[in-house]
Amino acid sequence: MRALRLESWQSTPQLREVPVPEPGPGQVLVQMGGAGACHSDLHLMDEFTDGALPWGPPFTLGHENAGWVHAVGSHVHGLEPGQPVAVVGAWGCGTCPRCLAGLETYCDRPDLAPAPGGGGGLGLDGGMADYLLVPSARHVVPLPEGLAPADAAPLTDAALTPYHAIRRSREKLVPGSLAVVIGVGGLGHLAVQILRATTAAVVVAVDAREAARDLAVRSGADLALAPGDSLVDQIREAGHGFGADVVLDMVGTDQTLQTAAAAARQLADITLVGLGGGTLPYSFFSVPYEVSVQSTYWGNRSELVEVLDLAARGHLRPEVTRFPLDRAGMVYDRLREGAIEGRAVVVA
Ligand code: NAD
Ligand code: ZN
Ligand code: ZN
Repeated sequence: MRALRLESWQSTPQLREVPVPEPGPGQVLVQMGGAGACHSDLHLMDEFTDGALPWGPPFTLGHENAGWVHAVGSHVHGLEPGQPVAVVGAWGCGTCPRCLAGLETYCDRPDLAPAPGGGGGLGLDGGMADYLLVPSARHVVPLPEGLAPADAAPLTDAALTPYHAIRRSREKLVPGSLAVVIGVGGLGHLAVQILRATTAAVVVAVDAREAARDLAVRSGADLALAPGDSLVDQIREAGHGFGADVVLDMVGTDQTLQTAAAAARQLADITLVGLGGGTLPYSFFSVPYEVSVQSTYWGNRSELVEVLDLAARGHLRPEVTRFPLDRAGMVYDRLREGAIEGRAVVVA
């Protein structure tokens, strides 16, 4: 089968022929219907070196996956060949207290997990291929009717990550509160839609690209702003002069974190999602009183079920550009150039 392989850090991914995996006991082989190209893959490819993570290349890219059950190993019940499924991306050990609580992103025994700290497309083979081997049936979630796998793929990360982040700030997102989304790419446009669907907050989106700001407005943002000298004043104005209750920073550079801190009002949450590598000086007086600064990472299976439900009922509409697997190599070039609106999805 074909697979887009990252063969070493800081190299260009290559389309290769590899054997079709065989599902062992408890495992599921998924015929790929869509694999999203996440900006995290660019960070991985460009910025990491040997030893930086507990896992590394070679592996097949693609950690945002959906498709159809192709074959199941022994002891797998309740899944039928041809059934459309989304793949839960974080693969923990399944038996430690955190995994049992559904928090496989924070498995206590990564040494017992299929890919310590990683997953499919993150150390183990991912979904930019004809087939994906999922190490446990609990990592596949049946798709509700009406969701095509290529459109569902971004829901497993580009929607799940902001959904998890927004849930954590739910108590601050009361009607009339102000939520700011910085960076309206794959994650950001779905963050806007999730805020719209699950809260009555005023939503302000910020992006350097005009096409992304247009997408933000189509996604339900009340206002879409460009970075610049007046940005913080414009955000404050949208918040009745007080500023933002929640800022989701999908970029994470010094500049965007500075904007987040300047735009936040007292008691706000500043949630760092983007891996831009920036830092935010934090001291008692450097941000307004009782502002919480937090990072956030991916989401869990029960949240994915909720995200799929939102999408199946039309509340989430991922903006998807499909690329055939044979041309998958160019997807990351386009993403790097800022030429993708919403999410690029590789289809086998
Ligand atoms: P993307 O490339 O699709 O979107 C990024 C957007 O940010 C683009 O629209 C770009 O124009 C905009 N942007 C860049 N610099 C900007 C600036 N200074 N001001 C305003 N807008 C700016 O990326 P994505 O796939 O949506 O990922 C976003 C970030 O989130 C990446 O850093 C990615 O690695 C990270 N990520 C984190 C998690 C997590 O669990 N924390 C999960 C997935 C992705
Ligand atoms: Zn990702
Ligand atoms: Zn575990």
